[in-house]
Amino acid sequence: LEAYLADVVLSLETAKQLERAEPTDHYAGKEQDRDVKKLVANRGLLKNSAITSPFFKKRVETVKPFDRQKREVNRSYINIMTGCNKFCAYCIVPFTRGREVSYALETLVARVEHDLLNGAKEVTLIGQNVNSYRDPESGADFSELLRRVAALNYEFWVRWVSPHPQDMTPELFDVIAQHRDKIPPYVHFPAQSGSNTILASMKRNYSIELYCEQIGWLRDRMPDASLSTDIIVGFPGETDADFEATMELLERVRYDWVYSFIYSPRKYTFAEKMVDDCPASVKSQRLERLQKRQIEIGLERYQEYVGKRVKILVEKRLTATELLARTEGNHRVIIVGDDALIGTFVWATIKHTGPVNMLAELD
Ligand code: SF4
Repeated sequence: LEAYLADVVLSLETAKQLERAEPTDHYAGKEQDRDVKKLVANRGLLKNSAITSPFFKKRVETVKPFDRQKREVNRSYINIMTGCNKFCAYCIVPFTRGREVSYALETLVARVEHDLLNGAKEVTLIGQNVNSYRDPESGADFSELLRRVAALNYEFWVRWVSPHPQDMTPELFDVIAQHRDKIPPYVHFPAQSGSNTILASMKRNYSIELYCEQIGWLRDRMPDASLSTDIIVGFPGETDADFEATMELLERVRYDWVYSFIYSPRKYTFAEKMVDDCPASVKSQRLERLQKRQIEIGLERYQEYVGKRVKILVEKRLTATELLARTEGNHRVIIVGDDALIGTFVWATIKHTGPVNMLAELD
């Protein structure tokens, strides 16, 4: 859902650019260029591109100028695949976006390098099932794409949204561990529920035992990795026992943060036909309890950072004196500093934390 929404935003921004014959600097600086095919053709980065999707044809190229008066870190968002083959019961994406289509690895690596050359400090690889990526030419998987991106000789972080547990492999976590200077050890690991009954009903194609085993693969390699997840409460048929299983999952995994939602039916999905037998008041109570407990767990996780030195990427100015930065684990960090720091990696020591922001002092 996160990737889908991100793509909707990108599509809207692109449509806005198309409205303008000559995009202004302001728009060019918004980094909404997704036209890999055009870029490849114009710059001869790759002969005989395999990209034929009309999805790319809709996009326009705007080369992002290096912003000398930095207001915000230069970010790059690159679609590496689109569509979905999984058919979760509550989701409309497979019907609206069609089956999974991945774009050519060499082209994507070239695109990442292009954006790094143009000042990007953070590159986010986007896909409805980003880790289901398969190079249409060589069959290389997402781990290989990450490995190739991480081999680029620039100072940057590469992030990726939104993954599916089905394609979380030991090899993927090996690559992150080997390249953690470029691939931050932060994994969004969507669970949706802690109950196997509900997972089966959602058609999520994994058990909670396998899910926890996969998190073990990650933590065996990077014990300090940050984790987030998505949880839906009140899915049709969710009993008190099913919800308690989700609460147990929170205690077991101890996520840094959780995106949690109350289930509501979507038209044309499998779940729309299920009997939504969970009263709205019960759904609200469950969501409130889950969020309250997660705030406590998240705060405990954040407190483990107090006194530690962390590398942060400075994103933007927040107030007259304060800047917003992020740790490799994607935690928000507030520092005092001037605009010259925006878009740079610096080291800082965490002095204090709340459940949302950490406060740090520059080294
Ligand atoms: Fe939707 Fe499930 Fe596909 Fe994600 S994996 S896009 S939730 S059907």
